Amino acid sequence: MSEEGKKDFIREIIAEDLATGKHETTITRFPPEPNGYLHIGHAKAICLSFGIAEENAASGARCHLRFDDTNPAKEDVEYVESIKKDVEWLGFDWGEHLYFASDYFDFFYTCAVDLIKQGKAYVDLQSVDEVRKNRGNVNTPGINSPQRDTSAEENLALFEKMKNGDFEEGEAILRAKIDMSSSNMNMRDPVLYRVLHETHHHTGDTWKIYPMYDFAHPLEDAKEGITHSLCTLEFEEHRPFYEWTIEHCPVPSAPRQIEFSRLNLNYTVMSKRKVLELVTDGVVSGWDDPRLLTISGLRRRGYTAESIRNFCHKLGVTKFKGMTDMSVLEFEIRQQLNKIADRRMTVLDPIKVTLTNWDADRVEEMAVVNNPEDASAGSRQVSLGKHLFIERDDFMEDPPKKFFRLGVGRSVRLRGGYIITCNGVEKDADGNITELLCEYIPDTVGKNAPEGIKCKAAIHWVSMAHGEDAEVRIYDRLFTEENPDAHEDGFRACINPNSLSIKQAKVEPMLAEVEPGYHCQFERIGYFCADLIDHEKGGKLVFNKTVGLKDSWKK
Ligand code: ATP
Ligand code: MG
Repeated sequence: MSEEGKKDFIREIIAEDLATGKHETTITRFPPEPNGYLHIGHAKAICLSFGIAEENAASGARCHLRFDDTNPAKEDVEYVESIKKDVEWLGFDWGEHLYFASDYFDFFYTCAVDLIKQGKAYVDLQSVDEVRKNRGNVNTPGINSPQRDTSAEENLALFEKMKNGDFEEGEAILRAKIDMSSSNMNMRDPVLYRVLHETHHHTGDTWKIYPMYDFAHPLEDAKEGITHSLCTLEFEEHRPFYEWTIEHCPVPSAPRQIEFSRLNLNYTVMSKRKVLELVTDGVVSGWDDPRLLTISGLRRRGYTAESIRNFCHKLGVTKFKGMTDMSVLEFEIRQQLNKIADRRMTVLDPIKVTLTNWDADRVEEMAVVNNPEDASAGSRQVSLGKHLFIERDDFMEDPPKKFFRLGVGRSVRLRGGYIITCNGVEKDADGNITELLCEYIPDTVGKNAPEGIKCKAAIHWVSMAHGEDAEVRIYDRLFTEENPDAHEDGFRACINPNSLSIKQAKVEPMLAEVEPGYHCQFERIGYFCADLIDHEKGGKLVFNKTVGLKDSWKK
């Protein structure tokens, strides 16, 4: 956790670089590959790089949004649009600084040609298997490629052939000439370019060769004048090659790569490849399924941008590898919704109540408070009639002593309204209770129970003549194991078959008027949000459970 007023190690470096005049301002970037939707892990990276730019705005700092679209195979415009939407929704602004790595293809190419001319890159014609085998391993040095010492002229000609599409995929690669016995495997003549006969979503069929991420990334950063290139720890081992590229290529600036630990959350998978699998196979309804930890899934679930930013802020920035508990994320949204969400009454599992001493056509308006934590939220009028619904489990036929809600001969308060006493039940042929017969006690609204009546609880209710039907979607964790990625049979083996349950609920009338995205607390149940996609579609009300009233993740 970041302590108030204390900077994390990255912010300290940045402050020092400004103080010493190494940089006049700070330029960061967030570089997603458009091969999937953003997830909560990306939010951590976004909050860091965009956050730093915001904090240093006085010196002209900024953060670029750059699509790292150098791999044509898996990328798509749908992903580009979703990523822009999510970054904006999180509350960040790239201004005019929206870039596509594919706009730099000429620049990458120029740098590669330059390296060849310097004798620092060569075209390798070994087979894919030979290349792999000859790289050696941690204990064995690699073996030089037979092409390693060919002349610059020859290499330029071969690279030209690669570019023109005269090689099939896998027949030729361009490699940096560094050190085949380096203890860092990434320095054993890493691949700079490979042949790919794919159509790129931006550049079409112009290119037959595509740069590798490790070569392209430092060049993208340098091209944009990035001062601090912040990335996750798995790139630490790649940093020597990042620096080699900056040192040997004709670049306009020298960015610095700094690594921090990635966010891992339990009971979920985040890798885009795995989420894509769940989406494609219909395990979830789409990238925005509320059970996913994608930004769009969280938004649909009812998370606010503020709660996600607060969560990322509290995580802090370190090099410590760990697993964060889901309860930490839920704490943030619960805390925020507790303050801002209206209280509404919804019965998820309804049983009918008839007030036997209430006239058939009598309707009375009850004043029910909107938010007990916030008097300024006021109260609302909720109609009560002769018939109503309460929660099935707020009644027990043979209640134990400690059960303070309804039973035959017992009394309970209807939230914001009268105290009622149950006198009997109706049953169907199978002996199931179909209706509770109750009497209301006059003159008990907002008043204590009269002498001789014990009333220790208030329950929520929905008037039958006034309430509306709604579909309420209740979510549980998507995986049954804390670390699905570590499951011996793969993450698909521990999918929770009960992660979604759908209730046909009764909701108070006001909930028929709300817009998609509306947050509220269903009293005594949890925080809910009108579904962004399905609510009011075809006249149906649809609510998603965002989070329970209490931490449900405790082991
Ligand atoms: P995934 O592993 O989910 O497929 P990725 O790292 O391949 O994600 P990119 O689009 O390359 O996805 O990521 C863009 C940026 O987001 C990178 O700088 C990456 O370091 C950062 N990032 C990705 N996942 C996390 C995470 N779990 N925590 C923090 N930062 C992350
Ligand atoms: Mg990636």
